[in-house]
Amino acid sequence: MAAPIYSADGRFLGVLAATLVFDAVQSILEGLSSSEGGSIDLVTGAAEIIASSDGSTSRVDPGVLERLAAAAGRSSEYSDATGTPMVGTSTPVPGLAWAVVVQVPSAVAYAQVAQLRNSAFVLVSAPLVIVGLVAYFLGSVIVRPLVRLTAAAGAVASGDLSVDLPVTGRGEVGYLTQVFNDMVGKLRQNRQELDARNKELEKLAVTDLLTGLHNRRYLLDAFDKEILRADRHDRAFCVMMIDVDRFKQYNDTYGHQAGDKVLAGMGRVITEATRDLDTPARYGGEEFIVLLPECNLANGILAGERIRTRLAREEFDGRKVTISVGVAEFPMHGDTAAAVIAEADAALYESKHHGRDQVRGAPPKAPPEGQAEKRTLSAKKKKSPEAAIGS
Ligand code: GH3
Ligand code: MG
Ligand code: MG
Repeated sequence: MAAPIYSADGRFLGVLAATLVFDAVQSILEGLSSSEGGSIDLVTGAAEIIASSDGSTSRVDPGVLERLAAAAGRSSEYSDATGTPMVGTSTPVPGLAWAVVVQVPSAVAYAQVAQLRNSAFVLVSAPLVIVGLVAYFLGSVIVRPLVRLTAAAGAVASGDLSVDLPVTGRGEVGYLTQVFNDMVGKLRQNRQELDARNKELEKLAVTDLLTGLHNRRYLLDAFDKEILRADRHDRAFCVMMIDVDRFKQYNDTYGHQAGDKVLAGMGRVITEATRDLDTPARYGGEEFIVLLPECNLANGILAGERIRTRLAREEFDGRKVTISVGVAEFPMHGDTAAAVIAEADAALYESKHHGRDQVRGAPPKAPPEGQAEKRTLSAKKKKSPEAAIGS
């Protein structure tokens, strides 16, 4: 700096020249600039650096300086020569054409803002996460097991005892679930026992205890079903009636208990000598009926012979017993159970009449009216070998 010196009367005396050293300013600027990568510069109007916080002596970009000056003390954002986004501000030094220019990389300037934003995010989201976790915990520990329990109770009420809930947790809900499972388990066990007992009772209700064969009631049911099946499939079936010969005499001679042994043996023999699809039954006293599905009269007589010869090999307390057998065919000998049984009984009577210990078939007959027509029509439709044999 230089200033002219004049005397009181206006004479030029000389020049006062001074050199300003800005080291002190420099250290002040250094102290102020704490931002990493930023700078505070004291610059002239021509963008020359007078003092800089980072010791730089090169010029500040005049374009940047102009832009910052135009912002009049407010901060501006721009990119420096290397393309780094920057934030800067320029403040004029009063009385001089100088300015203090502050430039900071945007990343540094906004670091604190970003940190604050992250902290705010954490502060807001942490309670949300906690609330979510609590809701999930309550859901999995209480609500969901209760919903499952409710659904399972509904299923049990509607008769489904197969439910078995997963027991989660040890609290009240877990205990309740365990108790519920135990209760359903007991119900299941009771039902199984009841089912088994019912089956046993059903079997007893249709079984003849002495012979182990089906009883008369079962036979008559099976007869009706067999008539329907035979009609539907247009097939014949046989009814065989068996009567023990001179059984009264056997009873009178050897006692009722010995007679019972014979009847039990008859059950065994008939079961062994018939097919699985046949229905052997005790019709009453010492009379038996066997239904032989899908069987014509000739085959029915053969089946009777099989039982008769099988019985001939049997001994009861060293004694032999014989039977007389009569066979009739549905629908040839009648289209109702009573009619076919009556024909089989008549054939049985013939066996008795001709000396007992033999099998006789009812004499062949024209099928009942209506049946004949039906059979002819269906025989034309479907000529199965069995239909051919049976008719
Ligand atoms: P037939 O050769 O003509 O058939 O002579 P039968 O003596 O067998 O004829 P009947 O029908 O007169 O006799 C049947 C006997 O069967 C009469 C009865 O004492 C006997 N009986 C019926 N049910 C039972 C039973 O459950 N146990 C025993 N031991 N005998 C029975
Ligand atoms: Mg009899
Ligand atoms: Mg008899």
